[in-house]
Amino acid sequence: MVDVRVGVLALQGAFREHILDLEGLGASALAVRLPDQLAGLDGLIIPGGESTAIAKLMRTYDFYDAIRARHAEGMAVWGTCAGAILMATEITDARPDQEPLGLMEATVRRNAYGRQIDSFEADLDIAHLDAPFRGVFIRAPLIERVSDHAEVLARHGDQIVAVRDGDLLATTFHPELTGDPRVHRYFLERVIGAS
Ligand code: GLN
Repeated sequence: MVDVRVGVLALQGAFREHILDLEGLGASALAVRLPDQLAGLDGLIIPGGESTAIAKLMRTYDFYDAIRARHAEGMAVWGTCAGAILMATEITDARPDQEPLGLMEATVRRNAYGRQIDSFEADLDIAHLDAPFRGVFIRAPLIERVSDHAEVLARHGDQIVAVRDGDLLATTFHPELTGDPRVHRYFLERVIGAS
C-alpha cells in the first residue's frame, strides 16, 4: 500500500509497536540495531523509552553522525517522546552526557510534567487528522520552543505536543500505543512523501 522503507531505532524502548503499526499500513519496516542498516531508508522513527539510555547506546554504536548524515541525504525522522527529546537542538534538564542529535531546531524539556501527572491520556486535535486522537503521555517532555518555519500540529492546553518541520516530526506522546495508525499514516504519506 505504501511503498516506503522505514527503520525504527531498536536500541531501547517501544520500538516493536512502531514496527507493527508500519507493517499494518503496508510499509516495509526494519528494526535498526546498527548504523549500516540506515542505508536506503526513506524514514527513521526514534521511539519513546529512556532518552539517557538511548543516547548512551547511540554513542556506543556510533549512531550520531550516521543519523545526521542520512538525514542530510533526505531520510525523514520522527521522534516520539524520548525520540523527540533526542531530535532537538537543545535539551533542558539533560544529563551532561546526553547529547542531542540536533536535527530539529527546538528546545525540549525532559520530564516536564512533574510527578503528580507524569503519565496521562488526553484527546488531541491534530492538524490534518479528521477526528481527535488519543494521546498517551508517559513521563513526557515539553516542547518549549520551535522555529518559525515549524508547523505546530497539536497542543494540549497551551503546550506543544506535536510539531512538524519539513521532513522532521516530533510528538511528545506515544501514537504506537493506541492501535490508531493515523499519525503513522501521516508520517508515511505526508512527511516522508514530501521529502
Ligand atoms: N522521560 C523519558 C526521558 O526523559 C521519556 C519518556 C518516554 O519516552 N515515554 O527519556
